[in-house]
Amino acid sequence: MASKTIRSKADLAINGAPPAFDQPLHVGRPNIGDRDAFLQRVNQILDNQWLTNNGPMVQEFERQIAERLGVKHCVAMCNGTIALEIAIRALGLSGEVIVPSWTFVATAHALYWQGITPVFADIDPATHNLDSGAVRRMITPRTTGIIGVHLWGRAAPVDELQAIADEHGLKLMFDAAHAFGSTYHGQSIGRFGECEVFSFHATKAFNTMEGGAVTTNDDRLADAMRLMRNFGFKGYDNVIHPGINGKMIEVCAAMGLANLSGFDEVIAINRRNHSAYHEALAGIPGITLLGYDPAERNSHHYVVVEVDETCPISRDAIIAALHAENILARKYFWPGCHMMKPYRDLFPHTGLLLPHSEAVASRVIVLPNGGAINEAMISTLRDILAVSTHEA
Ligand SMILES: *Cc1c(COP(=O)(O)O)cnc(C)c1O
Repeated sequence: MASKTIRSKADLAINGAPPAFDQPLHVGRPNIGDRDAFLQRVNQILDNQWLTNNGPMVQEFERQIAERLGVKHCVAMCNGTIALEIAIRALGLSGEVIVPSWTFVATAHALYWQGITPVFADIDPATHNLDSGAVRRMITPRTTGIIGVHLWGRAAPVDELQAIADEHGLKLMFDAAHAFGSTYHGQSIGRFGECEVFSFHATKAFNTMEGGAVTTNDDRLADAMRLMRNFGFKGYDNVIHPGINGKMIEVCAAMGLANLSGFDEVIAINRRNHSAYHEALAGIPGITLLGYDPAERNSHHYVVVEVDETCPISRDAIIAALHAENILARKYFWPGCHMMKPYRDLFPHTGLLLPHSEAVASRVIVLPNGGAINEAMISTLRDILAVSTHEA
């Protein structure tokens, strides 16, 4: 698909040359599995005339997810944000809950939407995950819980956070939206803390178009969440709990089942691309690829690079150069949740406590990955970066 060779600045689209790609390369382009398997399931749904309300597709989807992750319960939901909100409510969190600022804003919104104050703790810049020392410093008498985020699918420091939670009588849960297919100490993410919350949004490594789930080994918590996602109904006419509508529909579960069969292939392609990126970017000054923990499994969905002060051009100039070539690289989470209006209004000075989050937010670029990306494209992207960052 790359239609030109890039040898000098004159070859760059930002300087007026035609773009390297005639079709845009997107970050988070959906991974779509076996189309016929999906359509067959959609026909089954239409034949059954059972479109939603805990239908057979959703039940099978929950069974397969729970089995794959080695966890007792999977409660499927309409999206990851509602799944977070229901998990937070079922755990009875209130007052203040500690979260990273360096995450997608839904982690904070799921608390604030329910009148709970998200308190932002700083991250370890080497892993982009919560720093447990910073979490300790943010505990107050009003703290009731911690939400760890497994950012980029890399596990948060689960044991350290659990030790803090136990010591202070706090509930620990995880936003595992990036971590389907990841492990911690060799065990699948999905079983840690009180519960873990997945998003199966179209842009995630594994998707149900829109969707999410909470996984847990706690029977009572799973029961409470099943009630909450269906208005508190227990059988016909019997409402025993306050609730909301958080149900996953049958078509989404069908998409999930079709994509689940192909998920290991998606991981293999992502892993291959990730190591191609690793080699390609090695010689470029001031640009470092964030590595994955080689001891753990990961979907390798996110290709995260950091641009530091030794790079001759700025992070934003690199993004502009890539966009001109039709490579739609993204900043991600910029400028951090604590800088977004609702939270900046709440705590105007939090940035003082989040030096690593702010530094990382100013350095990151996420590059395209997935089945639509191949080694030739990565090599073109490398040439664009090499020429763009070459002085004079
Ligand atoms: C995607 C995402 C969510 C929200 O999930 P939706 O399914 O889009 O509602 C929450 N947290 C993180 C870290 C995410 O990346």
